[in-house]
Amino acid sequence: MSGDEARRAELVSGLGRVRARVSDACAAAGRSPSGLTLVVVTKTYPVSDVQVLASLGVRDVGEAREQELRDKRFQVDAEPDAATAGLRWHVVGRLQRNKARSVGRLADVVHSVDDERLLPRLSDGASETGRQVGCFVQVSLDGDPARGGVVEAGLLPLAEQVASSASLRLLGVMAVAPVGSDPAEAFARLQQLSSRVAHEHPDAVHVSAGMSGDLEQAVAHGATHLRVGAAVLGSRSPTG
Ligand SMILES: *Cc1c(COP(=O)(O)O)cnc(C)c1O
Repeated sequence: MSGDEARRAELVSGLGRVRARVSDACAAAGRSPSGLTLVVVTKTYPVSDVQVLASLGVRDVGEAREQELRDKRFQVDAEPDAATAGLRWHVVGRLQRNKARSVGRLADVVHSVDDERLLPRLSDGASETGRQVGCFVQVSLDGDPARGGVVEAGLLPLAEQVASSASLRLLGVMAVAPVGSDPAEAFARLQQLSSRVAHEHPDAVHVSAGMSGDLEQAVAHGATHLRVGAAVLGSRSPTG
């Protein structure tokens, strides 16, 4: 087997395992898998992995850094094919303000909106490309802003500002389960916060929660978007 074939086989099995976990979790929760978007987080992995994943039916990929998003989109767009056409690019990592305009141009969905000062630039970038960018407001469930996210008291005001930005579309809320916490408890809390946001913004019903280690708990607590990297791509050290 060539290296390319071996890597393809790894991705086929990683994706197969994650899809099986998602469908088991949906069955356990009495939910339909059609209500879930699997975002495969390809950060630090090569663009060839993105292309293989697209050929396996992945429609949503996630990146953490603007530079890597830009490089990968450029390479994918330079080799157009049916599999990658219409691929949606998500940003899951912490946004730097000086990169927000570029992210607004490049991303279809941003999961990590946690500061009102990002909004004018994100919105400008989106409007330069004549589109709306979907936004999740990231909330910090342990109140430690060092890891990203607004504190709970800041969630509704920030959601309101996103919703009133012409080129941004408020999708809902996002969180990462705090280190050392019970993810089920964390995601139950996120679900409560989601209903408050949805009460004010009836279209903003989406919940981005769940990673490789806790996707089952996220599905049980109403996640609509899962952000899964290592369980699909492997935790070997990436070769770039
Ligand atoms: C890297 C990352 C993920 C994916 O994490 P895995 O444990 O590899 O599944 C999800 N969400 C965010 C915010 C990330 O930075």
